[in-house]
Amino acid sequence: MKETWVYSFAEGDGKNKKLLGGKGANLCELTQTGIRVPPGFVITTKACLAFLNNPERKIPQGMMEQVSKHLKKIEGLTNKSFGGEKKPLLLSVRSGSAMSMPGMMDTILNLGLNPDTLKGLIADTGNERFCYDAYRRFIQLFGKVALGIPDELFDEEFEKIKSKAHAHLDVDLSRDDLAEICTVFLQVVERYTGKPFPHDPFEQLEIAIKAVFSSWMGKRAVDYRREFKITSEMANGTAVNIVAMVFGNMSNNSATGVGFTRDPGTGENVIFGEYLVNAQGEDVVAGIRTPKPLAAMADEMPGLFKELMELRNNLESHFKEVQDFEFTIEEGILYCLQTRNGKMNATAMVRTSVEMKKEGLIDTKQALLRIKPEMLEQLLFPRLDPDADATPVAKGLPASPGGASGIAVFDADRAEKLGHEGVKVILVREETKPEDIHGFFAAQGILTSRGGKTSHAAVVARGMGKPCVAGAEGITVDVRLRQAVIGDTLISEGDTITIDGSTGGVYLGELPLIEAEFTPELEKLLSWADEKARLKVMANADTPGDAKRALKFGAMGIGLCRTERMFNEPSRLPIVIEMIIADTKEDRQKALDKLLPIQREDFKNIFIEMAPRPVTIRLLDPPIHEFLPQEQQLIEELELLRNLRKNLRGMRKLSEAVTFMYQNEPEKPIVQLSADPELLDAVILKKDMILSKVRSLHEINPMLGHRGVRLGLTFPEIYAMQIRAILEAAAECKKSGVTVHPEIMIPQVCTAQELKRVKEWVIQIHAEVEDRFGLSIQCAFGSMLEVVRACMRAENLAEEAEFFSFGTNDLTQATFSFSREDAENKFLPMYNMSHILQDNPFEVLDVKGVGKLMELAVRWGRQTRPDIKVGICGEHGGHPASIEFCHKIGLTYVSCSGPRVPIARLAAAHAAINQP
Ligand code: PEP
Ligand code: MG
Repeated sequence: MKETWVYSFAEGDGKNKKLLGGKGANLCELTQTGIRVPPGFVITTKACLAFLNNPERKIPQGMMEQVSKHLKKIEGLTNKSFGGEKKPLLLSVRSGSAMSMPGMMDTILNLGLNPDTLKGLIADTGNERFCYDAYRRFIQLFGKVALGIPDELFDEEFEKIKSKAHAHLDVDLSRDDLAEICTVFLQVVERYTGKPFPHDPFEQLEIAIKAVFSSWMGKRAVDYRREFKITSEMANGTAVNIVAMVFGNMSNNSATGVGFTRDPGTGENVIFGEYLVNAQGEDVVAGIRTPKPLAAMADEMPGLFKELMELRNNLESHFKEVQDFEFTIEEGILYCLQTRNGKMNATAMVRTSVEMKKEGLIDTKQALLRIKPEMLEQLLFPRLDPDADATPVAKGLPASPGGASGIAVFDADRAEKLGHEGVKVILVREETKPEDIHGFFAAQGILTSRGGKTSHAAVVARGMGKPCVAGAEGITVDVRLRQAVIGDTLISEGDTITIDGSTGGVYLGELPLIEAEFTPELEKLLSWADEKARLKVMANADTPGDAKRALKFGAMGIGLCRTERMFNEPSRLPIVIEMIIADTKEDRQKALDKLLPIQREDFKNIFIEMAPRPVTIRLLDPPIHEFLPQEQQLIEELELLRNLRKNLRGMRKLSEAVTFMYQNEPEKPIVQLSADPELLDAVILKKDMILSKVRSLHEINPMLGHRGVRLGLTFPEIYAMQIRAILEAAAECKKSGVTVHPEIMIPQVCTAQELKRVKEWVIQIHAEVEDRFGLSIQCAFGSMLEVVRACMRAENLAEEAEFFSFGTNDLTQATFSFSREDAENKFLPMYNMSHILQDNPFEVLDVKGVGKLMELAVRWGRQTRPDIKVGICGEHGGHPASIEFCHKIGLTYVSCSGPRVPIARLAAAHAAINQP
């Protein structure tokens, strides 16, 4: 059977985005719903792949015949003829893949123009100026996209003629100016390519289709797909949409615009967008003239504004999603040129979800599923402190909310380079183009001096959730001199600036930023998420402050409290060192006795903060030498001290002599040389002891060494102190009426025997504390599963443990034998680049390996103890795809850092909805 490469908008399947691309499928859908779209057809993504896979890059056989057949249909519908000298049909040739990639691939407008059809168009429209304008646009766009001619070659000529004509804006150019521009542009093409511009419209069409196909593999598009992890399963190849041109630049009763059915910055239920009278599509996004807000159309073109509002309502009720659409008005007739789901920031996504659900447009599941959990990260972005007393030096449009500071950098390449070096940069441009995309990735924020809220910079920044101030017209950007001038203020490259994408303010220097707050809409959405989710979401929190923050994010308890952070606090470290260097049990106990009340207070404060939620406290895990200074540092300090000690005798003599000389003149300065030899001797002795301890504790492989439960079993006093502190804290809380649910968790376990020993201490101390306080305390006892053997022996471990928590950081390290400390800086990036590994396993749970172990451990553990609570507390506990896996294998909870809790709550809901 003959392959169908081409579908008309009237026949294509609007649901098949893979084949027709998002834009093509939506144009089919719009056409078939009765919304006015100019006639056209789609060339499939399959045709694109066939072209790209052909070594000679040939258009697949039979495709151009089908194109011709469909062209005939458009000719019939429009009563125009392609290449005809009378009523010539002009076309737009637009890319569009299954995933929206704004501005990443190519589009050509006004295709079909040549000196003959131009005459026809003039005769047809009676508007010479308009026709020459269309022609010069076509030559430039075709020259750039299809023939690879740099834009600057056209821009330079354009500016020359503009200044010769004393034209301020392009609309000030006369018919003759534009005709001259056409002639000059044709010369630019001939100079650059060595050939005349192709005049045959069919040849133009074929070249344009090939250029759009090829743009799928262009650098911009490839970079974009890599950054946004768009795989070939999600989108493979671009479709090509060929549509009859309609003109927004035909008269003052014509216009072009872009709109969002709701405000994509705030989510508010109002139409949002911009338009220009007497202009063509790309004028609005390119920021050449500053467009007007759509609301202004209500006064300027009231009848058409009403039609626009109807279009908006029809789009939303049909697609059940906020739409980002383009329209053109040709001589008073409104056409919808394209529509797609609107890309919005997280604030807007959350608000629209909650409001569209309340309006009955979508249900709870849809309200949750339309928001990618990772997106909520944006809501945790810092914003400018409203109390900061600062005056903006310039104002632009608030194009993408949030605050950001960094050094001003004037081109994308440098922004990328500095960004990768860890420097915070703000990309400052006159206007941005899609080829600046790599600079966006590296920048903290974007500032432009031209363009509206729907300009490229604004759209891309919003999609990325990066702050953007656009169209700050008071700023004159000089990319060549790498500076921006605002009145008499000069910003040179390297100067620190701050932008506020929520207000449009631009400030000199770095301003304080504050954490984002939960909006009532987000709370609502997450409450729906909690209703749908099966997994509980806990937080990894080590201090009362962490606990408080985690609660704000909706944590249902603490899944991991790492006690070592308490040991590391500067005021406590000397006691911890005392404990470590103690030679006898008695000496160690003395230090532990000092630590006990401190730890008890820590736990009490955390319990109070989290009450009545469960708090899982992990006993000391890292190798003990981590609390001691480095060997080299000690050697150097000792050498210094010993030298000082050697010279001390002479210095004391000198000191005595000086003191003697001035003893009768107290007002004279006395040289203070009061080094005390006994004190110095004591310090040297102590440092020597620490050094020998450091040497005796040295391990070649500390991560696999004397740590976790192994350490606990070697020095039982340490774990005993911690167990006592936890239980006494719980008892004190209970006594004062605070409900607590402590859980004691043992790290690095590999055999049931280890658990059994520690559990005996827990039972003994538990009884003692209950007895002393005269009350009963509930305290669960559990094990980390972060050692391969622990997973293999889960059945036995479950005899001792009432809960398991997967420590997937160590478990990943152990499963791969990749050091979690080094792999990410050494070979992992290369492994990812060359697709030996798809992802970084320390970030994305390796479900095939580590996940398999987890699945087995859950199954075996539940064979012994069917109701055993199982969670995860490694970094993967806050990663949406990993959370989905945790749901699938039946975990009870996930635990992650506080700010990731909202993300995890939404991911848990997604998992439950997708896998009931
Ligand atoms: C883990 O190994 O996953 C874990 C949570 O423990 P830590 O990161 O403290 O080793
Ligand atoms: Mg661990």
